[in-house]
Amino acid sequence: MDTQEKVVIVTGSGKGIGRGVAHTFAKEGYSVVVSDINYEECLTVVSEIEALGKKALAVKCDVSLKAEVENLVTETINKFGRLDVLVNNAGIFPFIPFMEMTEENWDKVIDVNLKSIFLCSQAAVKNMKAGGKIVNISSIAGLIGFAGLTHYCASKGGMNGMIRALALELAEKKINVNNVAPGAIDTPGASQPDQPRTATEELRKQTIAIIPLARYGQPEDIANAVLFLASDKADYITGQTLVVDGGFILR
Ligand code: NAP
Repeated sequence: MDTQEKVVIVTGSGKGIGRGVAHTFAKEGYSVVVSDINYEECLTVVSEIEALGKKALAVKCDVSLKAEVENLVTETINKFGRLDVLVNNAGIFPFIPFMEMTEENWDKVIDVNLKSIFLCSQAAVKNMKAGGKIVNISSIAGLIGFAGLTHYCASKGGMNGMIRALALELAEKKINVNNVAPGAIDTPGASQPDQPRTATEELRKQTIAIIPLARYGQPEDIANAVLFLASDKADYITGQTLVVDGGFILR
């Protein structure tokens, strides 16, 4: 189908990888629903996309709250009349040593990163037709361990398991479900002071030294993989996790 008619929701797209995904889909002709917990940032990204002559809608949504997720899908259908692609991107990754982690710390990461995939996918699938695509942004942290991220690694590993079952259930509707697992990507979230790999120039250099392709990934590197998995070219791929990490986990 012509992408000029298609509609995509990108969660957490006020900045970072989600913003890159929103821009990439807009350039490809999709109408883009820019959704984030920060409404002002949604409005900024919508303005950027409209300046390219493309269609976009801003919707505030905390992906861990069922009512806000249902509203996100309702506003999408009210505005554009259809939903073709859901990109579950919103996620948080606060570094907290395991023995200092509170129950609230644990629940928040699991709710925002993993429960959200359940809430958003269930709401979206009710409105998707055959050919629909769900693409989740997981992480190499779902495949290897990172100290200080037990809750995060659990949430991303959970996504990898979850999509194998969901892909089986949605196959009869001809809806595909896949993950993209980024490595170290240059984003505002990854530059916060609590991020041990990226907070300073020295730490960034050390991280680049262990990436075979010798650079940080950019949001567009992830967006291009998402665009492929959301396209008709990926019609025969489902239940898979595509690693986009410059070779980070190869050695
Ligand atoms: P980012 O720069 O922090 O952007 C994420 C956006 O999502 C922010 O605008 C954030 O708002 C928003 N958000 C946070 N909680 C939300 C919620 N409950 N509902 C809706 N939106 C929410 O992060 P990023 O680096 O682009 O990460 C995007 C995704 O990629 C995440 O799932 C992350 O786990 C994954 N990932 C990132 C990397 C990396 O190296 N950057 C690597 C592997 C995987 P606030 O700013 O207010 O929190």
